[in-house]
Amino acid sequence: MRYYILNIFFIIAGVAELVDARDSKSRGGDTLSVRVRLPVPKNNNKGSIMETADCIFCKIIAKKLPVEIVAENDEVVVIKDIAPKAPVHYLIIPKKHIADVSSVEQADIPIVGEMLLMAKKLAKGLSGSQAFRLIANNGPDAGQSVFHLHFHFLSGKKMLDF
Ligand code: 5GP
Ligand code: ZN
Repeated sequence: MRYYILNIFFIIAGVAELVDARDSKSRGGDTLSVRVRLPVPKNNNKGSIMETADCIFCKIIAKKLPVEIVAENDEVVVIKDIAPKAPVHYLIIPKKHIADVSSVEQADIPIVGEMLLMAKKLAKGLSGSQAFRLIANNGPDAGQSVFHLHFHFLSGKKMLDF
């Protein structure tokens, strides 16, 4: 009965869809079995949140992890890097889960454009020099460690070593 109540709760909450319910009392038993179907996230390719189970940035975007949001719009979130490599080190992250630059498709170009416009906006908010460096590591051999597209936005010091 406890499981039955739990399942009904999920169905009412809109989390699951009732597939089948059987009451064995009619057959002389005393159990009730319920089958429910959990929804599969859809990628509507509009930059909406499509969380992938183990993606730390998807969890941050879904506000499942506490993090200070520097800036946000419909397509993009900006956070401070947890291990800054410069006095200003932001991560510009699309809300849509795209693994890396190599996974960007034609339909994603508006999202990547929003990432660039966000960099421009962040620069305007800098105190002092508005110079900045944008970096996108693509693949483990290039140093990528989080496989959700992002630009590192670095500023606040001279970076003439490239
Ligand atoms: P990548 O190595 O993929 O180019 O960049 C990933 C960046 O994400 C790294 O600079 C790393 O410090 C940062 N990072 C990883 N996990 C977290 C986190 O949980 N919170 C924040 N704010 N940054 C993170
Ligand atoms: Zn993700």
